[in-house]
Amino acid sequence: EAKSAGGDCCKMFEKRMYRRFKRVLELETAMRKALENEEFVLHYQPIVSMKCGGVSSFEALARWQRKGFGLTPPAEFIPVAEETGLILPLGRWVLAKACEQMSLWQKTYPALADCSVCVNLSGRQFKDPDLEEHIMQVLQDTGLSPKSLKLEITENEVMHNPERAIELLGRIRKLGIKIMVDDFGTGYSSLSYLHRFPIDVLKLDRNFVDRLDTSTVPSDRKIVEAIVALAHGLNLEVVAEGVERVAQREFLAKLNCQFAQGFLYYRPMPPEMIREGYLDKSSGKILMPPNTHHPSL
Ligand code: C2E
Ligand code: MG
Ligand code: MG
Ligand code: MG
Repeated sequence: EAKSAGGDCCKMFEKRMYRRFKRVLELETAMRKALENEEFVLHYQPIVSMKCGGVSSFEALARWQRKGFGLTPPAEFIPVAEETGLILPLGRWVLAKACEQMSLWQKTYPALADCSVCVNLSGRQFKDPDLEEHIMQVLQDTGLSPKSLKLEITENEVMHNPERAIELLGRIRKLGIKIMVDDFGTGYSSLSYLHRFPIDVLKLDRNFVDRLDTSTVPSDRKIVEAIVALAHGLNLEVVAEGVERVAQREFLAKLNCQFAQGFLYYRPMPPEMIREGYLDKSSGKILMPPNTHHPSL
């Protein structure tokens, strides 16, 4: 009895493993083709200055325009890309595309000269020995100024090998590129390390922002206060991620948090939407009213 139950259990496990394996393989094959067929697209979400509401940068966010599946969000393909190594070619494509787009926008709208594009880097890319050279090549090819590029990395990617990270980030930063720590507060970064890292911006994870106006625990707000104060003490800028409600914006403004990103301001948008409707040709300012909801992810 017991033996046969154990056997069934094993078989079920094997079946699950097999199905997962098969799914990853299928996705990998599909993604390889998708890269060749240029099925990936970038959407851009503005990061705004909380003081004036102006757009300070655009975060590039990958989507897969998969035939027969619609618009696939990154949560469904970035992990597979990381697992299979496809993140390297995909990441290179993202970097090149984002820089090309920003360079084009700046040429068309001179008022965007101080605007930058933020590109997410995965840990795997961070370990790529050719990363630095590739970045320089992309900047040269697209004519984008290094000051118009920001790279987003997460704490865990940095903390995996702190000494190497300090060295590599330092070199990248010397080029004039700004370094942002994404999802700050969710990883295991040691606060004692923070001042040693050559970084410029902390992106406060949206879980903290979410709790600002919903949590009944006062310490949840105290933690955000402390993070913002710490960042400012270290001369780092802060971007609050996932700002959805006015109460959150008001709380963050009181803390002098300078930048915010979230559905309250803008959703991620395809570049056509930014180009066609929202950038004013003469001033380069974004004309889109805050609060506009867009049919995007
Ligand atoms: P992330 O870098 O933290 O990007 C922010 C995510 O939060 C985006 O999800 C964005 O759409 C979402 N978001 C922005 N404002 C709000 C809000 O007010 N409320 C809520 N609920 N969500 C908001 P998205 O585009 O689905 O991307 C998810 C993650 O996938 C990104 O998180 C990033 O880690 C990864 N990712 C996206 N594109 C790339 C890429 O090109 N390369 C790499 N390595 N990772 C990427
Ligand atoms: Mg990001
Ligand atoms: Mg990220
Ligand atoms: Mg984030």
